[in-house]
Amino acid sequence: MSEKFRLLAMGGDGIGPEVLSCGLAVFEAVASNAGIAYEIEHDLLHGAAWDAYGTFCREETVARAKAADAVLVGGVGGPKWDHIKVPGGPEMQDGLMRLRIELDVYIGLRPAVAMPCLEHLTPYREGLITGADVMVLRELCGGSFFGLPRGIDQLPDGRRRGYDNYVYDSNEIERFAHAGFRMARQRRGKLTSIDKANVMECFKLWREIVSEVAREYPDVTLDHMHADNCVYQVAMNPRAFDVILADNMLGDIVSDQLGCIAGSKAMLPSACLKGLPLPGQRIAGIYEPSHGTAPDIVGKGIANPVGTLLSVAMLYEYSLARPDLARDIAKATQTALESGCLPSDLGGTADSASVTRAVLASLAL
Ligand code: NAD
Ligand code: MN
Repeated sequence: MSEKFRLLAMGGDGIGPEVLSCGLAVFEAVASNAGIAYEIEHDLLHGAAWDAYGTFCREETVARAKAADAVLVGGVGGPKWDHIKVPGGPEMQDGLMRLRIELDVYIGLRPAVAMPCLEHLTPYREGLITGADVMVLRELCGGSFFGLPRGIDQLPDGRRRGYDNYVYDSNEIERFAHAGFRMARQRRGKLTSIDKANVMECFKLWREIVSEVAREYPDVTLDHMHADNCVYQVAMNPRAFDVILADNMLGDIVSDQLGCIAGSKAMLPSACLKGLPLPGQRIAGIYEPSHGTAPDIVGKGIANPVGTLLSVAMLYEYSLARPDLARDIAKATQTALESGCLPSDLGGTADSASVTRAVLASLAL
């Protein structure tokens, strides 16, 4: 890390800039209070970059992201840009996917925790999710989101055919599996690897490699579970899960499902890392809420900023090696919600700025 912590901040599209500004307010207040010197650079990503520069991610942006100690993103995408096709592979079609590939941040950490004060706002009956705390590890740089060939072809008889390629090689699976076992070791020692090995070749290899890697972690309990069953089981009994190891596609799905235990998908943070740091070590990463750009509520100032604030907490944990400050932010967020300061997706009337102010107040900043 250079003398000053370098943060690259990009709002992206839709509600992205709205939640980013909340995240930055908390990042700056906490850093200043802790005496952490920082500088923030701003840039445009995806749709915003397309509108300004005609590309989803400029080369300058890639270079800035690589030089930064952390990148904080609001969210990208929206109907305005969904149908634009530019030359190049899948990563060229999406600014955020481009950054994930360029930074090789293949580990997506997506924690979901049931907060006692929000349990009555979830679809669960009383007591069913008390204490639920699940960490989804989503692979971010491979699988069907990037596999080639892909496309929509015109067939001679007039039909059209769309296809993608669900593909992982053994190295990709192996490095990711190690991250899963290491994460399980730091938590409650239980890893559930999910796949569709019953029907897909790619997942037969996935299951084989994960089982091989397991031999190096005899202290971790490994279960293999079919993904469809997993989505059911996490809904029925989320407390049975500790760490879930999932490929890019299935991890995307199962992590949104877990938004139900947190009260709203807008509560879920994420960190995208290229390794799991040892305690005390810092690692660069991309931090972003798990939710999307919510085109239906954009511009109203009512987006729930909690997923972004908790992403900032993860930034303090992994890119600044300050788990103490990460805990402070998470605790202050909980206190603000306990005090009844709830945004509309949790049935309240607090706007994004009020929630952020309440969190800063509980931090005494
Ligand atoms: P979404 O998460 O944007 O929205 C789904 C629902 O959740 C909507 O009703 C929305 O209002 C609500 N919601 C989401 N975030 C919220 C918040 N912070 N506060 C309150 N309510 C919130 O998912 P979608 O509709 O599937 O996708 C919309 C766009 O977002 C698409 O263009 C998609 O590609 C993009 N997307 C981006 C990311 C990302 O940048 N990481 C992730 C997912 C989706
Ligand atoms: Mn998603």
